[in-house]
Amino acid sequence: MPSLSDPVSTLNGVGAKLEQAFNAKGIDSVYDLLLYLPRKYIDYTDITDISKLKPGNVSIKAHFSNVTFRRARRGLSITEAIASDTTGSVRIIWFNQPYRKDSIRLSEQYYISGEFKLSNRRLNIINPYIEQAGEFNNDSGRILPTYSESKLLSSWMVRKAVKAALPLSNQVKDMLPEYLISSLKLEKLDTAIINIHTPSSIDELDKARQRFQFNELFPQLLANELANIERLKQKTIKVPFNASLAKEFVAKLPFKLTNDQRRVIWQIYQDMGQSVPMNRMVEGDVGSGKTVVAVMSALMAMAEGYKVAFMAPTELLANQHAETINKLLAPLGLNDSLVLLTGGMKSASKKAAIEKANKINGAFVVGTHSLLTSGVDWSNLALLIIDEQHRFGVDQRMSLQKQTNHLPHFLSITATPIPRSLALTYFNDLSISRLKEMPSGRRQIKSSLIAPGERSKLKDELVTQLSAGRQIYVVCPLIHPNDKSDDVAAEVIFKQYSKQFTEFKVGLIHGQLDLSAQAKVMKSFASGKINILVATTIIEVGVDVANASVMVIYGPERLGLAQLHQLRGRVGRGEYQSYCYVVLSDSLSPSPRLRQFTKLTDGFELSELDLSMRGPGAIYGKLQHGKGMFSGLMSLDDHKLITKVQAGIKLFIDKKDSLNKYPELKMQVQEAQQMTYLN
Ligand code: ADP
Ligand code: MG
Repeated sequence: MPSLSDPVSTLNGVGAKLEQAFNAKGIDSVYDLLLYLPRKYIDYTDITDISKLKPGNVSIKAHFSNVTFRRARRGLSITEAIASDTTGSVRIIWFNQPYRKDSIRLSEQYYISGEFKLSNRRLNIINPYIEQAGEFNNDSGRILPTYSESKLLSSWMVRKAVKAALPLSNQVKDMLPEYLISSLKLEKLDTAIINIHTPSSIDELDKARQRFQFNELFPQLLANELANIERLKQKTIKVPFNASLAKEFVAKLPFKLTNDQRRVIWQIYQDMGQSVPMNRMVEGDVGSGKTVVAVMSALMAMAEGYKVAFMAPTELLANQHAETINKLLAPLGLNDSLVLLTGGMKSASKKAAIEKANKINGAFVVGTHSLLTSGVDWSNLALLIIDEQHRFGVDQRMSLQKQTNHLPHFLSITATPIPRSLALTYFNDLSISRLKEMPSGRRQIKSSLIAPGERSKLKDELVTQLSAGRQIYVVCPLIHPNDKSDDVAAEVIFKQYSKQFTEFKVGLIHGQLDLSAQAKVMKSFASGKINILVATTIIEVGVDVANASVMVIYGPERLGLAQLHQLRGRVGRGEYQSYCYVVLSDSLSPSPRLRQFTKLTDGFELSELDLSMRGPGAIYGKLQHGKGMFSGLMSLDDHKLITKVQAGIKLFIDKKDSLNKYPELKMQVQEAQQMTYLN
């Protein structure tokens, strides 16, 4: 009998080749395999007689005949078959699944599940899943799990291996305290493991899922709660509100603050006046005016002689922010207190910057994440502003605390909003302010999809803009072509545009150029020497050229909604009507995601849409082991689950229980306390 820690190859039927395929998926031990959860289920329980089929999702039990295969238009292949039961026959069609023809056994009965719908003026079942009837135990239901597959690993193989491992499920130790399981009436873990892999009814499956969802959410929310409890215990520098300073600053701005800006600044001032460290995020679309909010927050600390640190994700952005902040502080003469400190600076200027930061009263220090370990004396740091990072991990907090002896007020600013439901559940320790109102006078960017047949029309549009003196970004999802079909690689598009737009100067920028070369290209674009900038997604954040009015995006299928929206935000920053062209890679009908993107201009709406389409797992980054924070089972609209988890946390905390008693839980809590990035 194998044990949980044994390699998967100890299981019956798992040879060296299959083991490798498992290893490639991160499954090494029998334990890993038991916790390799299905991605989805195909429900063959509700079998309909073929004579009674109605359009929609259907399951039938039938045998196949007349299987044919042909290649149709460029790239498209069609496999057709007739499926028959005792009541009638129906045509089955698979597109681009050429292996179907040879894998179907005419002598066998199959369960067939797919959409029964009109195609070519006939009702057919299109692209169904099929399963040999003999594959099912008579005593188990016909809800079939499918797993994340690879070339060498099919769901069928996973199911077989899992079956061999299931008898060991009662050895998997539950990470949760016993009292939680009993008082919250959670399903036993071994039952949940068995039923998630081999459910015999939808009801059983739901119960198993709930247990896994609980196990997934509990450590995350417990981590937040513990961090929050720690934060509330801390004492930090109280920064008093100075009304006349705020008034003077506002009076000298070249514009009037929006109502949202004023509301958010006021929230921040109230937080900073407390001795509990603020933990606040300001969300606002590109151009909503987050910088001025950050600067006004800093003002109060500077006036009291405290330091402020501003951390940007890259040096390029740190430089740009410093320039903007300088302009905002200048009317009050406070720009003398601004210090730029980045890793790329020569050591003499670095030294001078550190000295200056330490010497003057109320320095505003701008740099990248290395700021905190740069040698500046942070003992009087009152406010830490973090740009485009969603979490300040526990490790970072601790290293900061070592240098400051206190936690400063935290303010993060971002153009990638956290969807409301995630914010309420997952980020429950964070106060969120939203800048929804855009400064007046902004024009909406016009977005459209470009089908392959419309590329020459696109060229005409670009020429019109270029001739009017505007500049253009062209963004590609990769640098080099991986194979011939990668005609969306930046190098390929750069060559193509250089040939097509001979009267204009085309530039190329990507992450493999060294920093000074990148800076040079950016400078030429900013000064208008380059008309068309072909780039990778490195220009996603921060780059600011008011004369650029067109964003062309190739290979949009590979980019997330948030990323597309960020890219679009690179244009429309000046007075000119701006455009975003999303160039589709093929002539298939575009995904709902891309269609929605061209319709919606509001980042908040897009983030909700992104969440509902991709789920939290796809949006929130992977932790160290490549295991997602959310397995994909999670649904954050599940208020019953969330209430249960919150009740569990309350139990745990009221009991003053210690994580040290639950090593596995502790590990997961610690993992959750690491940083989380949006992707
Ligand atoms: P983001 O939120 O993208 O960081 P910025 O802070 O860079 O936006 O602001 C974008 C531009 O809008 C800047 O040029 C800034 O000076 C200007 N701006 C900010 N607030 C206002 C306002 N209330 N009215 C008009 N212009 C504003
Ligand atoms: Mg900004």
